[in-house]
Amino acid sequence: MLKRFENLSISRKLQIVNLVLLGSVTFITTLLLSLIMYNTLLTDSQNNARTLLSVLAESSNAALVFQDPRAAEEALAHLHKVADIVHAEIYDLQGKLFASYARSTSERVPTKYDKQRYMQSSTMGRLFLNVQQPIKRAASDQEQIGIIGLQLDLSAAYKQLAFQLLIVLIAGLLTFIALSVILNRLQTSITQPLIELTEAMRRVSTHGDFTAHTAITSQDEIGELSDVFNVMVQEISKREASLNSELTERRRIEDRLSRIANFDAITNLPNRHSFNNQIDRALLNYKYDRERFALFFIDLDNFKFVNDTYGHHAGDLLLSIVAERLRNVLRTDDFVARLGGDEFVVLISNHTVLLQISTIAEKIIEELNLPFLVENHEVFIGASIGISICPDNGDQSELLQSQADSAMYQAKNLGKNNYQYYQEELLFAQENRLKIEAELRRSLDRKEIIPYYQPIIDIPSGRIAGFETLVRWIKTDGTIISPDDFIPLSEELGLIIDIGEHVMQTAIKQTAEWVNQHGTIFTAVNFSSRQFKLHHLALDVVNSLKASGLAHRHFEMEITESVLMDNTSNSLETLNRLSKEGISISIDDFGTGYSSLSYLTSFPVNKIKIDKSFVSKLPSDKNALAVVTAIIGIAYTLNLKVVAEGIELQEQLDCLAKLGCQYGQGYFFSRPVPAVRATELLALDRAKHI
Ligand code: C2E
Ligand code: CA
Ligand code: CA
Repeated sequence: MLKRFENLSISRKLQIVNLVLLGSVTFITTLLLSLIMYNTLLTDSQNNARTLLSVLAESSNAALVFQDPRAAEEALAHLHKVADIVHAEIYDLQGKLFASYARSTSERVPTKYDKQRYMQSSTMGRLFLNVQQPIKRAASDQEQIGIIGLQLDLSAAYKQLAFQLLIVLIAGLLTFIALSVILNRLQTSITQPLIELTEAMRRVSTHGDFTAHTAITSQDEIGELSDVFNVMVQEISKREASLNSELTERRRIEDRLSRIANFDAITNLPNRHSFNNQIDRALLNYKYDRERFALFFIDLDNFKFVNDTYGHHAGDLLLSIVAERLRNVLRTDDFVARLGGDEFVVLISNHTVLLQISTIAEKIIEELNLPFLVENHEVFIGASIGISICPDNGDQSELLQSQADSAMYQAKNLGKNNYQYYQEELLFAQENRLKIEAELRRSLDRKEIIPYYQPIIDIPSGRIAGFETLVRWIKTDGTIISPDDFIPLSEELGLIIDIGEHVMQTAIKQTAEWVNQHGTIFTAVNFSSRQFKLHHLALDVVNSLKASGLAHRHFEMEITESVLMDNTSNSLETLNRLSKEGISISIDDFGTGYSSLSYLTSFPVNKIKIDKSFVSKLPSDKNALAVVTAIIGIAYTLNLKVVAEGIELQEQLDCLAKLGCQYGQGYFFSRPVPAVRATELLALDRAKHI
């Protein structure tokens, strides 16, 4: 209750306090006044009755002395002038009725003195007042000769009292209303300026409106408060303005500094400093996303001649025209910079095909072969371009730069105005391949071939249903080589048989541990078509499973459509044996290969994996959506399980879930991780889904 009161606004609080105080004061005053009036009425009536009795006692004592009741009755008869007297009696000393008076005839007069009749006190609320008094022989005499009593009717007096009370009540009410109005005015005059002040403060604090000020003009404390507020807002607004201009100035300077630091003043192109940053960025992109790029070193032919003949100014002008032409030839996401002198550099990303790179180099040369108009002189120059490619020529900044540089010199040596790829590497390519081969052969002995595991999620429940085993070649220096970069070579070299065997056995052992600890879980291992050429593949698989005690249903084999298409009869035999053993077969990269659906029914296939190239385009790409929908439909019709791989985004997952895809795999859930981490992921998952 108190808390609720505290939470009320000041004006509401004041209203309530006013009401309670005024109400109680008015009520108590009216009550006291009524009590006083009532009391006065009673004492007045009593005094009147007593005076009357004294007069009657004196005028009737002679009648009693002389035993003349008639005289007494006559004296009493005067009472009819006093309207309030109901009855009056005189008794002699023996208590016998001596004389009496009654306003109405129905009044019964007791013949014997009854003390009780007059003793009834005049208590509150009584309608009648009874009084009595002894009659003395003479006023000065103490001898009592009789007693006189009478009864007074108070109703008329009460009526008058009631009327007076009504007036008091009305007066009280009017006072209450008048005071309420006055106090209300007073309260508004205090709270209204406070409300205005609060509103102004809110405009300042929430909208940053520094024009907000209050127009309160009173001379009291609130007026002073509003003055102080207005001054404060002005001060803040001034400071804000100066801060803003300081900030803009600082930004301008920063911009200028950054321009000086990163751009070349003559051509407005990025300078060597920003080129170094850019190539680092490109190398990072390569490291994480395998994004290849080409580096062009461009040196102008005959620039020195223009500079020497027409002067530096003409040289600068020429450089800026070259910059403009380079920018026009290149796409917006290609990068061009001036390193200094007549050297330019270009970074081409997302061009993996040599032909595209050559086309760009040719276009640059063509463009720079066109005549230049410099200070009214038509001049001709040309360009020699050296090209290095990441990762073909290396994946280090200095290396790529020195290679592009030496290729550029080669172009100059070959007569200028042409482009050259860095060639030296090609000369050593054979040697390099032998080196890699030797390393790859040793990798198994050196325990550098390590399976990683990527969770496959049951989409409806979100639980980890299994793992795909994805092999990594981790060299002693820590470089991780992805399977795409060494599986083809190991297939060529026949090493895939040993590597595959190693991966399978490690995965099976690992899965046996997981099954022991966490119950049902499956592991899928990739097999290449080369492995299927082995006649004993099925036997190898079954033996490995037996050795580790892993039930066959926990093991899956991922093959691509090419396995089914190559040497069909042997593959079919192997697959049939494996299938009979209860081992599940998945078709990997489904949708990218032969797309002949007939094998789905002629081979013992259990699962299909939708290729990530479709998944990555979901949900916006209409074609991808149609393909994925169709694959899920086919899987459903043929009673096959379906996994979507390469899920990276929530909306892709949502879309697949909506389409009824059962399993999902991708960076969205987890990247492929080492066994220890996979075990942790599994434990976490099981704890979550207990
Ligand atoms: P795959 O069987 O299609 O494996 C899926 C590839 O997609 C894996 O690349 C995996 O890391 C990657 N991936 C998974 N989720 C995502 C995602 O959300 N986004 C993107 N962009 N990629 C994702 P990884 O590990 O580089 O393997 C490449 C290929 O090498 C595999 O393709 C498989 O064909 C082959 N491979 C891997 N391990 C083995 C193996 O032990 N034996 C054989 N024969 N081939 C293997
Ligand atoms: Ca796979
Ligand atoms: Ca795949």
